Amino acid sequence: MREKAAGLRLTIDLAALAGNWRRLARLAAQAECAAVVKADAYGIGIAAAGPALAAAGARTFFVALPEEGVALRRALAESPVPQAPIYVLGGFFHEAAELYAAHRLSPVLGHLGEVERWRRWQERGQAALHVDTGMNRLGLSLEEAENLARSGGPGEGVDLLLSHLACADEPAHGASEAQLRRFLEAKALLRLPRASLANSAGIHLSPTFHQDLVRPGIALYGGASHPQAVSDPVVTAEARILQVRTVPRGDTVGYGAVETMKRTSRIAILAAGYADGYLRAAGSSDAASGALVCIEGHLAPLVGRVSMDLIAVDVTDLPQGLAAPGRWAELFGPNIDINAVARHAGTIAYELLTGLSRRACRRYVGQEG
Ligand SMILES: *Cc1c(COP(=O)(O)O)cnc(C)c1O
Repeated sequence: MREKAAGLRLTIDLAALAGNWRRLARLAAQAECAAVVKADAYGIGIAAAGPALAAAGARTFFVALPEEGVALRRALAESPVPQAPIYVLGGFFHEAAELYAAHRLSPVLGHLGEVERWRRWQERGQAALHVDTGMNRLGLSLEEAENLARSGGPGEGVDLLLSHLACADEPAHGASEAQLRRFLEAKALLRLPRASLANSAGIHLSPTFHQDLVRPGIALYGGASHPQAVSDPVVTAEARILQVRTVPRGDTVGYGAVETMKRTSRIAILAAGYADGYLRAAGSSDAASGALVCIEGHLAPLVGRVSMDLIAVDVTDLPQGLAAPGRWAELFGPNIDINAVARHAGTIAYELLTGLSRRACRRYVGQEG
């Protein structure tokens, strides 16, 4: 029973994950809704997330790396769709070519050299082609796509045209419309069977962005992707309360002595820290307040810096006895918005989720079927 010995416990609600996928699938309406499960399903664990998403109805998956694809193929073995297409966004790692064949992984070809290698490879199955429409990370330029189309196209088995939006989370930003125009140009040139442009945030732009296949990631896992987006929390992170101590007015708490008590305070010490992936930048000081936690329905603010293994929170205003050793304090989940914690740390929920460490104990609830 790992939980009894753990400082941070993560409860991962697979029913909420499935619910988020279904909501996005409804929003995408005419388009197929895939699932992006790179980085161990944004930190929640691909072995549980893959089958849960497949049970909810996901039929196409995206990972970043071939080894993630191998893990997902194994995870899907007992699911309704053991042979579901798995696209590898990182492309074709030709040194690992045998993995693509053995596990039926489909590379997302991101430059002409890859297209060439793929075309020459005997055991190739299906692949996608990435065109760059303004992000300047991966993908063929429009000019390269045009030349490729003139010289006979990317070859047999390439069944999906893909591009990625840089600013979909800022609906007022003009970049998305410009990217859409370039994408439609590439689509007309290459005439591949299917096209995919939208990530989570892109789904909330206009239906034109949906194309044939949408690729949500963060919205599946409870992260905010767009001002209008609704997504249920999937991960609840709770830290064990180790002790509650009285700190006299004028004393400081934690490393650097950056926060001075303005009154005699009751401070609860929690058994989690940045080694678990809770962000150090979410801490508090005299100059700027930090994130909040929730103990038995009551909010309590962080005090001082987040240490490697410990967090201090002010429980002076909580009813006596609520914060007690052995109880758990919610760091984020249904009561504390993960997006707010990330904002306090100057980052986004993506980084907080994918940074949760191996030290945290993970338990899964809400398995369906
Ligand atoms: C990560 C990623 C996604 C998912 O993005 P979210 O913002 O998490 O929805 C979609 N497409 C590509 C190419 C990606 O790299």
